[in-house]
Order: sequence, then C-alpha cells, then structure tokens
Amino acid sequence: CGIFGVVNDKRASHTLLRGLKALEYRGYDSAGIATLQKGNISCRRAPGKLVNLESVVNEWPLSGATGIAHTRWATHGKPTELNAHPHRATNVAVVHNGIIENADELREQLKASGVRFFSETDTEVLPHLIALYLTQCEDPAEAVRYAINDVKGTFALAIIIKGIEDQIIATRRGSPLVVGFNVDSAFIASDMVATSGMADEILYLEEDDVAVVRADSVTITDSDGFEAERQRVKVDHDL
Ligand code: GLU
Repeated sequence: CGIFGVVNDKRASHTLLRGLKALEYRGYDSAGIATLQKGNISCRRAPGKLVNLESVVNEWPLSGATGIAHTRWATHGKPTELNAHPHRATNVAVVHNGIIENADELREQLKASGVRFFSETDTEVLPHLIALYLTQCEDPAEAVRYAINDVKGTFALAIIIKGIEDQIIATRRGSPLVVGFNVDSAFIASDMVATSGMADEILYLEEDDVAVVRADSVTITDSDGFEAERQRVKVDHDL
C-alpha cells in the first residue's frame, strides 16, 4: 500500500513504476497508474505483482508528463483489476491509501444523484464526490477540501483532473504524505524512500492539508482552509 505521483517528467509512466517499486516492501495485492495525456486521463491497472502492471504498460504505453500511481492493500473488495486504483469519475482520477468509513452512506447518496459505480471499493466515492464539487466551485483545491470534509476515515490521496496537466492535488488524514522537488519535476509519495534519487528537497504534509503540487511550486492550505507553509528539508543524496 503506497502512493506515488510525478509532475512534469517526460517519462512519467516510467518514473511512476520506479516509485512504486520503491514502495513494494510495504506489501500490496494489485497496482495501477494514471497519466494525463494531452489533457485526458488514461489508466492502466493490474492485479498481483508490479511485473503484471509493467507488462500491461509495455503493451499499452502511457505518454504524458504528469501522473499518479498506487499499490493497493485491499480493505473493501477483492484484489481484482476492477477494484485496483486509480478510481475515476469522467474528469477526475484518484489513488487512495486508507479507509473511508462512511463510504456506504456516501455511495447511496451519489447513486441517488445518478452516479454509477464499477468497483466494490470504499475509494470509488472519492472521485465522484470531487467531480460533484468541481461543478460547484471553480478552484479544484477547494473542491477537494469540500470532498474530504464529507469523508470520515483515513486517507492519503493523489488526484489528477482532466484538462489540468501541470498539477497533482495531494491530501492526507492519518496516513503520511511527502512532497518532493528537483529542478525539473515535483513528486508525491507515501514514504520518502520512494523519492530517493529523484527529489533534492522534501516537505511533509500535515493532517488535512490540501496541496496543489506543480513542478516549480506547491500551494498548501491547512485544515482551516488557510494558506500554510511547510518546512522544506534538503535531501542528503549520500545517505
Ligand atoms: N480502502 C481502499 C481499498 O480497499 C484502499 C486500500 C489501500 O490502502 O491500499 O481499495
């Protein structure tokens, strides 16, 4: 169970798989990645080991410079391709580690407003909630804030939105999340080991932070919705 993401890297799908490999030690039962290709979201997912995902990606490559990745440790629904992350609504893709405790209730509400579900996961409510709020507010980070305010439980989330190729939105509650940078690209990861050899500088998100991560900047709002700074730490590549 791990999350990885990259912004502005010409070989994004390769970097995503590399990030997931570094998180393998945490254990998982399936994996998946999504990238923004000319503004559109494309996903590849596979049950079992990362080699399975790698062969899917070799057969059906993903271009794009920004993307998100996931290794899953199933809590809700079997470790199948359909239950593997990323999960998506038409214009949003999400990877999630953790448990959404009020997923059943949210699922019923969303179904009542016409949403169709394809997996057995608790996670699948998240892209739909975010998509719903995106119709109500212009700022994607605000839509994510509204969505997590509806959610009970724990999460580390990485989110990409159709048509917005230069950013990932990341947020967390109860699960750690690191944001990293080098001169060209930005990364997000559940564990700093996954950014090793890639990021020169990292910062840790705090509970309920929502971060808009771009290649050259990060904008963070805290749990009260106020803009916040988190301390950046230089990475010692010799360690
Ligand atoms: N609860 C989610 C699921 O079962 C995420 C599991 C995880 O942390 O990998 O799909």
